[in-house]
Amino acid sequence: MPITVVGSIAYDTVKTPFGERERMLGGAAVHFALAASFFDEVRVVGPVGEDFGEQQVAVLEARGVDVSDVERVSGGRTFFWQGEYGWDLNSRETLDTQLGVFEGFQPKLSERSRSSEVLFLANIQPDLQLQVRAQLPRARFVALDSMNLWIDLAREALVRAIGSVDCVILNDAELRQLTGRPNLVSAAREVLSWAPSSPSADGLARGPRVIVAKQGEYGAALITREGFFALPAYPLESVIDPTGAGDTFAGGLVGYIAAHPDEELSDDLLRRAMAHATVLASFNVEEFGTERVQRLTGREIVARIGELHAMTQFSGAPLELLG
Ligand code: AMP
Repeated sequence: MPITVVGSIAYDTVKTPFGERERMLGGAAVHFALAASFFDEVRVVGPVGEDFGEQQVAVLEARGVDVSDVERVSGGRTFFWQGEYGWDLNSRETLDTQLGVFEGFQPKLSERSRSSEVLFLANIQPDLQLQVRAQLPRARFVALDSMNLWIDLAREALVRAIGSVDCVILNDAELRQLTGRPNLVSAAREVLSWAPSSPSADGLARGPRVIVAKQGEYGAALITREGFFALPAYPLESVIDPTGAGDTFAGGLVGYIAAHPDEELSDDLLRRAMAHATVLASFNVEEFGTERVQRLTGREIVARIGELHAMTQFSGAPLELLG
């Protein structure tokens, strides 16, 4: 099923203990699209400025991503983000965010982008997420990402946006902050409870049935009404730049689901999607920005899925316990 993604298309300046890059291609929609492009057709919606190069567009085109709804705003500047990571890469400080063309952005989706059956609302102002969501009322699967900024500034709108999607993908700390619950499982269960008992007539207010809590280098957890699943991150000896890992993870997860149009959204399908998300994210962090994913191959993904599968298996090992 074709996938539409709306979100930031950016220039990122990033410093990690292993080096730095200035104004490299980034943005949530870009990281998502590159990852999801391994699974299905991806259509990107978002604004860029006059400073956005053809070379950057070509990176998306090389992976077959449809960029016809990437809107070039004349006289505008592309969204810019600057961040710096601590020595163990677990802490990140945002040094600069310049909204540029995102200020005043009104998403205009072509007929083609509106016809997608799968939609990913990357981290943008929740009212904009809602606007885009309303333009795809018949989408079969809709997922959303957000961040602490919107929980602080626009919680009500965010809760409304969450009420209009099937799947919420957040960092574990954000889930706790959103619900005010210190326990991750209970926080996820609370968000699941925001789903209405019957979906609205226009199909928009159906409410989340899948919660994914990203836990950085510790992996990710999946919470549904039926169950719980978790995977560790793929163990890497060298991590260079975690920027975009969350969006790449989302691209793997949503992409895998989109590639299985005839399967019900079962926990079994979601577990396999989690594995693909984990593997895609692991490649993303091996180099700066989109560098590694740009030259990634399907064969490399499949090989790493096999390794992840092997390292997360264990037998029942029944044992007569004392007591
Ligand atoms: P992640 O590392 O998954 O949190 O994603 C980082 C990406 O999100 C970078 O490529 C940034 O360009 C982009 N980004 C950072 N802050 C924002 C923001 N406030 N709104 C939209 N995108 C952002």
